[in-house]
Amino acid sequence: MTKYIFVTGGVTSSLGKGIISASLAKLLQARGYRVTIQKFDPYINIDPGTLNPYEHGECFVTEDGAETDLDLGHYERFLNSPTSQANNITTGRIYQNVINKERHGEYLGKTVQVVPHITDEIKRNMRALGETGEYDIIITELGGTVGDIESLPFIEAVRQFKWEEGSNNAIVIHLTLIPFLAAAGELKTKPTQHSVKALLEYGIQPDILVCRTEHHISNDIRKKIALFCNVNINAVIESIDASSIYSVPLLMLKEQLDKTVLSKLKLPSKNEPDMESWKDFLGRLKNPTSEVRIGLVGKYVELPDAYKSITEAFIHAGAKNECKVRVEYIPSESIHPENVKDKLNHLDGVLVAPGFGSRGIEGKIDAIKYVRENNIPFFGICLGMQCAVIEFGRNVLGFENANTTEIDESTPYPVINMMEDQKSVTNKGGTMRLGAYPCELKKGTKAFAAYGKSRISERHRHRYEFNNKYLQAYEEAGLIASGLNPDSGLVEIVELKNHSFFVGGQFHPELKSTVANPHPLFVKFVAAAMEQVKKKK
Ligand code: GLN
Repeated sequence: MTKYIFVTGGVTSSLGKGIISASLAKLLQARGYRVTIQKFDPYINIDPGTLNPYEHGECFVTEDGAETDLDLGHYERFLNSPTSQANNITTGRIYQNVINKERHGEYLGKTVQVVPHITDEIKRNMRALGETGEYDIIITELGGTVGDIESLPFIEAVRQFKWEEGSNNAIVIHLTLIPFLAAAGELKTKPTQHSVKALLEYGIQPDILVCRTEHHISNDIRKKIALFCNVNINAVIESIDASSIYSVPLLMLKEQLDKTVLSKLKLPSKNEPDMESWKDFLGRLKNPTSEVRIGLVGKYVELPDAYKSITEAFIHAGAKNECKVRVEYIPSESIHPENVKDKLNHLDGVLVAPGFGSRGIEGKIDAIKYVRENNIPFFGICLGMQCAVIEFGRNVLGFENANTTEIDESTPYPVINMMEDQKSVTNKGGTMRLGAYPCELKKGTKAFAAYGKSRISERHRHRYEFNNKYLQAYEEAGLIASGLNPDSGLVEIVELKNHSFFVGGQFHPELKSTVANPHPLFVKFVAAAMEQVKKKK
């Protein structure tokens, strides 16, 4: 029988529910339980695919092509197992399902209401992954903060769910803040008391409180929180600020969050969690023997969350190489032919980021020209790869005004263009090449050397593609297609022959990098940057 854990947030947003959920899941997994995490978001978009990265950070794409919340990236990176569309549900999707059922007459003439129809649909989705029989424990993270108008139906659904399943089968962990008032020199518990009170008003008694704090919580404060919030003292868990999100599972282990959860769910503790390889990763992460500086050239650099999976992939690849990767965010708009040298010369590698639309694209192209000509390691992802193709077309092949038709529909050299079957699509949501596609690598290439095999699978999220009409010209001039889609012949990876490392992927490798499996292209790119450092000495 599947057991359910709900994680709610109180006092303020950004407390790190995603990291706490992923850390708990990691510990339970390391004890031998089959665990997955799902996220329920209260906004009305059907999925975050149409959201500007400034609104909500990166859009994380799953194997099955769902555009989801960036927290799913954390779940995958911690657990090293894939998520799917079923792991991310929004208010918009719940309403869409209910309205579709109403139009099909499935409510038999009843008035369709938030309670019970919306809450029933929420509960149905909360149970869906549990009913596959694939998991012992499902952790459900509720987006938003308790007390928000828009999260009310989810909170009510959790109340009903708990009542239906019984207190040994469904528990609530409330993540809250214990602020430190510097002037008084004290940690304050009142906001937590109020936020638990708000939950109680909705009929939910939290089972465990995870208290985010900048300072250690004394026993007296734990007792006070326990007494006023009606929980056992061992259910008051301290979650102190950590230097790395990857330290949080071990901090939670020390606080025995996993043990407390298992005892509430009446599940055996099994063995102690096996965290050896995790500790090994942390050891390499925290004790690097070298350092590289990588420039991340992108359009949304003011908000690092927009490139969450890329920065995490650098952390994994850095640890693998025992190398500290310092990522410098460079707005692509700020790069021009006159200043490109000053902006990039000190770097050991440059990554040109994914993106949409024309803003900053010429800066990306200028950056690529510079690193190509100066033999600085380059890694292009999606739009970054497309820009590399444009740059090479313009400056090596002499294709004047070569472009992607996303930006210039009447370019004389549409080296990146739209696939025929995408042209008729007018809807914006979920209309791209999305999710996992196979790719066949050519032997003897850098890509093949990185992966160590010829058949790979990577995740996509884009509308435009390399235009195969120009492939021969590119290959003859030295930019080769080292990976092709075996079914469609689409170019998935390009690389330059005579260069230390110049690789562009049409897919998003960052989405598949995990602590247990750092992505091979990131690992090789960081290694190339380390070589670049040596060359400079
Ligand atoms: N805008 C480009 C396309 O749609 C690239 C997308 C991306 O970088 N994810 O093809």
